Amino acid sequence: MRIVLLGAPGCGKGTQGARLSSAFGIPRLSTGDALRAAVKAQTPLGLRAKAAMDAGQLVSDDIVIGLVEARLLEPDTRAGYILDGFPRNVAQARTLDAMLIRQGQPSVEHVVHLRVSEDEIVARLLARGQAEGRADDNEGTIRSRIGVYQAETRPLLDYYQAQGKLLSIEGVGEVEAIFAHIMSVLGYRPGTAIAA
Ligand code: AMP
Repeated sequence: MRIVLLGAPGCGKGTQGARLSSAFGIPRLSTGDALRAAVKAQTPLGLRAKAAMDAGQLVSDDIVIGLVEARLLEPDTRAGYILDGFPRNVAQARTLDAMLIRQGQPSVEHVVHLRVSEDEIVARLLARGQAEGRADDNEGTIRSRIGVYQAETRPLLDYYQAQGKLLSIEGVGEVEAIFAHIMSVLGYRPGTAIAA
């Protein structure tokens, strides 16, 4: 199973991605997590990425594409993966399609879009900022990230709709109910044993 999770920051991609990852026994690849780890470790890549992340802007395509390309060559992705936070714009999506062909890997099968209103997003991210202390979960940066989502990431809905891969579901409610809904649009009933 090869899935892209799409949605505004705070829509629940990380939470649902972790559940999907354990349900299918495949890794969740989060470019945000990988970038935060690089910033924390002060690697050259992290130092290049930090200013954009702090400002709520996208890190340059070449940095994230390099990260994803290397990760997709690791053997644990052979049976599938959940992409969380990548692609984030149409150029990244086109590059991903071409990269999978070049690597001789199957293309992404499903794109799960979690719909959440802007007010809910702001409330969730402010709460997460207080609970987890994530540097970019403050009001100014949250507004930039939502603006970036609208301008750059939202066009991916049309991109994947045109490929017939888009599954759009309501991302508000109980985590378990949303997960059950995702599984059902993917064609699985709750409790079904899943072969990787
Ligand atoms: P996330 O944890 O997915 O919300 O990502 C946190 C931050 O990392 C974003 O606001 C961007 O600055 C950066 N980032 C994560 N994924 C990407 C990506 N695919 N392209 C560019 N920047 C990214």
